[in-house]
Amino acid sequence: MSRRTNKMNRQMNAPMPSESRIDISSAESITCDKCGNHTFETVVLIKRISAIMSPTGQEALVPIQVFSCNACGWVNKEFLPTKERNEQEESTPTISV
Ligand SMILES: [Zn+2]
Repeated sequence: MSRRTNKMNRQMNAPMPSESRIDISSAESITCDKCGNHTFETVVLIKRISAIMSPTGQEALVPIQVFSCNACGWVNKEFLPTKERNEQEESTPTISV
């Protein structure tokens, strides 16, 4: 509650607060898990919501923005929504008869 006031005061006293500047060079670069490339482009993953799950009772398509390697098109697991990751991990066959 008093946070906002503090921040405003600080901005008035110090015009360039160092904490608001992020040092990009020290940040971790994410690379493609498949080819090691480090540039990505935004792509859209589309989830189909079945009529049973949809609140409107109708099938719906929901776009989710993810990043794909712009060299090989691979989408790192860390970019995928959590559920998507689980589905991939669970796809390992464990059933034995
Ligand atoms: Zn790649």
